[in-house]
Amino acid sequence: MSDETFFWWTEEQKAISKKVNQFVDENFEDAEYFFWKQEFPWPLVKKVAAEGYFGAGIPKEYGGLELGATGSCIVAEALGRLYSVGHVFVVSMLAGLEQMLRYATEEQKQKWLPQMASGDQLGAVCITEPYAGSDAANVMTTAVKEGDEWIINGKKRYITGGGVSDRYFIYAKTSEDKSDRKQYSHITSFIVEKGLPGFHLERVNPLIGFDNVPNTYLSFNNVRIPDENRVGAVGKGWNVMMAGLNFERLIAGAVYVGVIKDIIKLLFYYTKRRVQFRRSTNQFPGVQNQISELIAKYRMGRVFAYNCAKQLDDGQEPMINASIAKWFISEYVRDAGLLAVQAMGGDGLTKFYGAERIVREGKIGEIVAGTSEIQKMIIYRFASMLPENNEPMRLRWNDEVNAPLVSKKESQFKGLEINEENILKVIAHDYKVNPGLYMTPDDVRQDIGGSRSAIRKTFESLEEKKLIATNRDRDGKIALVKATYEGLKKAFPEDYYRWYPAWYKDEDKF
Ligand SMILES: Cc1cc2nc3c(=O)[nH]c(=O)nc-3n(C[C@H](O)[C@H](O)[C@H](O)COP(=O)(O)OP(=O)(O)OC[C@H]3O[C@@H](n4cnc5c(N)ncnc54)[C@H](O)[C@@H]3O)c2cc1C
Repeated sequence: MSDETFFWWTEEQKAISKKVNQFVDENFEDAEYFFWKQEFPWPLVKKVAAEGYFGAGIPKEYGGLELGATGSCIVAEALGRLYSVGHVFVVSMLAGLEQMLRYATEEQKQKWLPQMASGDQLGAVCITEPYAGSDAANVMTTAVKEGDEWIINGKKRYITGGGVSDRYFIYAKTSEDKSDRKQYSHITSFIVEKGLPGFHLERVNPLIGFDNVPNTYLSFNNVRIPDENRVGAVGKGWNVMMAGLNFERLIAGAVYVGVIKDIIKLLFYYTKRRVQFRRSTNQFPGVQNQISELIAKYRMGRVFAYNCAKQLDDGQEPMINASIAKWFISEYVRDAGLLAVQAMGGDGLTKFYGAERIVREGKIGEIVAGTSEIQKMIIYRFASMLPENNEPMRLRWNDEVNAPLVSKKESQFKGLEINEENILKVIAHDYKVNPGLYMTPDDVRQDIGGSRSAIRKTFESLEEKKLIATNRDRDGKIALVKATYEGLKKAFPEDYYRWYPAWYKDEDKF
């Protein structure tokens, strides 16, 4: 199934998909072997490197395959099926790739990109700290300039591939100035290499999953690095970090897609061979439904991820889609694991089949590279800024059908003089249309016209007389208005607000 290509893929991308999936099929057993040995899969990582896959997203002039976001996704999706290898590959490939492409000097690109592409040395991304998780801007690791060197002090944690990596792309605080902090100009990014005095591996976490990939704490104690290891301008670390986020979220999602495919395969295999009540369990509608759900999720996750990759390759910044891809796919994987365990009963819970591992990996997916809550926060924030979500949508009362209709027509109050009586009428009329909602000052102005300041002054005098209620923003400005019950009474007679369906009997009205 993962060999299915999309019509917008280039011939080169189709070819790499075939090649990398074949590579994964051939090496699947080794991945399992290293899982059971509980050993970092160096031989497999070296094989991945030899195939050049670490260079999937790197331009050819720097030794890469130049396959863009789509090609990187294809490789991540396939290698993700090799569990730890996929995660190491993804982190190493993402350890500053987009950041380097956009912010590094030509000299830095010449030095680091061929090394990243070759996969000879692994890389790690170091954002998270003991006191800075989702709030990544709160890093406390410091970098202080001394001559041509920077002195790094602090700690990082949850770093995937710590210890086994040689290259650490870190973010450190370079300013204590409050206004810099406010403008996110307090962080700078650097590359720190393994082996420098004062740079230590502090701890390797025992985790719920990522079984044979080290998840680590790092300690920096007066680590000296040359200024040439600074990526981007001083104070621009936040921009550097953000530069790669869409790509990173997408790849963090894509690395899990292929895993769902393998779970589907396992379920077909298993349920055809497990007999209960004299029938193989794949004949039970419940089991079929579960497998169908996984197939749907696999296909939806896949098409969504590659659509997002195409947007990136077309030069767009699909902020919302990258977050959706990361959020949905990691949830899909967790669900896939849970469904597989359920469909396999006790066997699903043993480590002898891959199902339980997927539950654990999927749960990690919902936290690593930005939690699902943070993805949803991003989706809301960015979607709320889109013009399509801010277009005026007004309901206008239509007397003929005696109901509110979504309408582009002018309000019946348009052009009336701005005074207390008319403004109150506009607001009270809105009670008839939207009985539970407030109006924004712009809604009121759209209905009646006139100057904003005159309308605001009228709001204040109506509020003082307790004819309208307001909701104010942090600066104390009126953000929303609604008529009070007193205001409703004053604006229109009681009958104005009444509404009964045609079937309702007069004798039951009062
Ligand atoms: C296996 C693994 C590998 C990792 N690899 C790396 C790595 O290589 N490099 C690296 O730098 N980091 C890495 N991380 C760190 C990872 O990115 C963070 O764990 C993640 O961003 C969440 O931070 P936190 O764990 O500190 O949780 P917190 O930020 O403390 O969050 C705790 C809870 O609060 C919620 N929350 C926080 N803020 C908000 C908010 N504003 N609105 C709503 N809910 C909120 C979160 O969603 C979460 O549910 C890794 C983590 C794991 C588990």
